[in-house]
Amino acid sequence: MENSTQTQEFKEIVEAVNNRIHFKGKLIEHSIEGFERIIEVVDDSVGLRGIIAIHNTTLGPAVGGIRMYPYSSFEEALTDVLRLSEGMTFKSGVAQTGTGGGKSVIIGDPKKIKTPQLLRSFGAAINALGGTYIGAEDSGMRLSDLGILRERTRFLVGIPHPRSSGDPSPFTVFGGLMGIKAAAKQVWGSSSLKGKRIAIQGLGAVGLRLAEVLFWEGARLVVTDVDRNLVDTAVKSFKAEAVEPHEIFGVACDIFAPCALGGILNPETIPQLKCRAVAGLANNQLLTPGDGEALFKKGILYAPDYVINSGGLYQVCVELEKGGYDPTLARDRIATLYSLLTEIFELSAEKKLPTHEIANEICHRNLTQLVGKRTEPIIFHH
Ligand code: NAD
Repeated sequence: MENSTQTQEFKEIVEAVNNRIHFKGKLIEHSIEGFERIIEVVDDSVGLRGIIAIHNTTLGPAVGGIRMYPYSSFEEALTDVLRLSEGMTFKSGVAQTGTGGGKSVIIGDPKKIKTPQLLRSFGAAINALGGTYIGAEDSGMRLSDLGILRERTRFLVGIPHPRSSGDPSPFTVFGGLMGIKAAAKQVWGSSSLKGKRIAIQGLGAVGLRLAEVLFWEGARLVVTDVDRNLVDTAVKSFKAEAVEPHEIFGVACDIFAPCALGGILNPETIPQLKCRAVAGLANNQLLTPGDGEALFKKGILYAPDYVINSGGLYQVCVELEKGGYDPTLARDRIATLYSLLTEIFELSAEKKLPTHEIANEICHRNLTQLVGKRTEPIIFHH
């Protein structure tokens, strides 16, 4: 009874918002095999061209970031959004957050063409999809930009609002700590990081925070970043050893934590690695699935990226629940990443299969058996 009342309330809110907001541009549907909906968003009056990709909503509405980037062509933007939205299905599917996979991109240099009018128009386009896609911050978008999108749609998470969750980085890092401890337990029989030599690539929003928490855990750090100021901060604050960006792969260490770019585990870098485990927070670390296989053959334990870096997803999804955003609930859910990754590592050892394949299998099982499917209606408290 309560559920149906909430569903009714939700429908009324959606209708009220929809009646006020009309997307004035064009929404062009493209049919792409394996994807539920691909919508090209065009509003010439504000210079907007973008794509919303909904990969899979079997377990719940698609949640994924809004990326703004100066893609050189529509095809390049399409390739990126397809890959990213599918990745969100994997992340949500394993995390059991009751959400599906989606992502959106806006084509253009954020420094040059991002205007409040363009953002409002894209907000109206998201709104026109009625909540099947829920957007969040991603590269090229700031929290304040989401505040502008919010003027046209409620279908957002992680926005600057007292009842929303805000910056996911600290929660992503907490999940990373859980994953690194699980990897240490698997390799050395103890989750203690005291004295472990950990190499971090990238000291941005997640990398520098990760350096700090690892420092408090007693780890010895080796760091790199293209931004010399960030390196100096880590050297001074955490007694980290600094190396040049190209040297990080060959650093003799216990754990390598990629926290900068995608595609950095590849045929060029894997032969250089001198670590026992790779456990970091960057997205899409494996250039191809074959690189996961190569790590496995080399005896390096790999924490699948979309599992170890899912802390931010757990966090933003808490704000969609009946009780609204609660950081303790987010923290406690993220803590379960320790046991989830342990399960993946153990199954990998037992089945003699690379860890990324085990994670993919878990996702496939959850999708086919509807494990973690959303049963409660979504509530937007902001
Ligand atoms: P960020 O932009 O704040 O930080 C990235 C850092 O990497 C920057 O300091 C940049 O100078 C550095 N960098 C770029 N190229 C480099 C290179 N060649 N060598 C060394 N350093 C280099 O981004 P972020 O939010 O910290 O995210 C980092 C990674 O983690 C990304 O792959 C992102 O998708 C992923 N991730 C982040 C979150 C989050 O909550 N922020 C969640 C999940 C995944």
